[in-house]
Amino acid sequence: MPAYAPVTICAIATAPGRGGVGVIRISGRDLLPFAEAISAGKTPRPRYALYTDFVARDGSAIDNGLLLYFPGPNSFTGEDVIELQGHGGPVVMNMLLARCVELGARHAEPGEFTKRAFLNDKLDLAQAESVADLIDAASESAARGALKSLKGAFSGEIRALTDDLITLRMLVEATLDFPDEEIDFLEAADAAGKLSGLRGQLDKVLGTARQGAILREGMRVVLVGQPNVGKSSLMNALAGDEIAIVTDIAGTTRDTVREEIVIDGVPVHIIDTAGLRETTDVVERIGIERTWQAVEGADVALVLTDSREGVTAEVNAILERLPAGLPRIFVFNKIDLAEGVAGEGEENGHAVVRLSARTLEGVDILRKRLLSLIGYSASEGVFLARERHLDAIRRAALHLETAAEVWQQVELFAEELRLAQNALSEITGEFTPDDLLGVIFSRFCIGK
Ligand code: GDP
Ligand code: ZN
Repeated sequence: MPAYAPVTICAIATAPGRGGVGVIRISGRDLLPFAEAISAGKTPRPRYALYTDFVARDGSAIDNGLLLYFPGPNSFTGEDVIELQGHGGPVVMNMLLARCVELGARHAEPGEFTKRAFLNDKLDLAQAESVADLIDAASESAARGALKSLKGAFSGEIRALTDDLITLRMLVEATLDFPDEEIDFLEAADAAGKLSGLRGQLDKVLGTARQGAILREGMRVVLVGQPNVGKSSLMNALAGDEIAIVTDIAGTTRDTVREEIVIDGVPVHIIDTAGLRETTDVVERIGIERTWQAVEGADVALVLTDSREGVTAEVNAILERLPAGLPRIFVFNKIDLAEGVAGEGEENGHAVVRLSARTLEGVDILRKRLLSLIGYSASEGVFLARERHLDAIRRAALHLETAAEVWQQVELFAEELRLAQNALSEITGEFTPDDLLGVIFSRFCIGK
């Protein structure tokens, strides 16, 4: 039986606008009568396509197409699911949707199908999130990473870690029964060694998750440079053949001073400070205000100059206004005109790269510099992760660190381990302290 209040929900699953096919998705309990009503009495065979008219209350056809029937629990949501594949025009789709409402369904809230899948244990929380990430993916690598998370790669690592943590906790909780010998007991069982092993594992997961978060969130680059130094050329050179797909995620306003490219699969948001000039225009001022806010959250500043001119006074003026801690890479462009040689180095503690956006000499060096600056190395096995996950892993790591300091005070030790587990459980969404008791009771014979 579904754990979720089984109100039938319906929604148009395909993107708005016109398309060859439009899909309406319905989820609820006992939907066979629903399917029969909309297909004029035909009984669909589970998981087979039924070609049928979709009919109104008076039996007249609204549209015709395919009806798919997935009885729960073997469906995406774990409930009965029906998909109507009709003609993908907004009018037809809305007529079909209205018919579904007439048959007792209500409009689904955003993410409600996935939410039901989570509540019915078809997906854990991290997997549910990756459904949205896959749809929003801005690059091929991000899409692949999201699919990995969806298939459970990330959750699997968190679960393995949690299992080891539970094993250690069971050991520690058991020693609490022997107040005078707890320390001996823990030493004999090598609790400290097990803890340090756990901390190592957690560090590794944090590393992969950080890469995953970068793949998802991308890197923010502030571009400083005067007109004609080659900003546009460099952006194209950096992006190479990769196409940036700008998605309409709430909050990402596109204005003239923003650009999106993809470097080795990592989305890069470019904030062009060329747009940051003095102005009396109110609208433009608001845009500039917003740009400065974006600069505050940037990961790196790319300072572009013409090799023949070097860093000019105008560029220095902007540099002075940048956040003090913002890492900078000075790029001397157009070396082909300056008889320069491509390469990298350091000046006054800042990275320097000499290149040509025209001949592409040295562009690879910059690409690597940028990615290594944010700690990203394109590798297989990266799954998509979110800031929320990183935060939970970091908190778990802090608790394990404290645990290592207090392990001789067994009650405190046990408490830190418990808090670490709770933090990890937030990732998969199964944080329930009662669970742990269940595990302890089921694995331990507490007869003594
Ligand atoms: P922006 O105004 O800073 O965006 O500069 P653009 O990218 O539009 O480039 C200005 C001019 O410089 C264009 O004619 C480019 O073709 C040229 N340019 C850019 N990079 C190079 C380079 O590395 N070498 C040479 N020779 N020309 C370049
Ligand atoms: Zn330009």
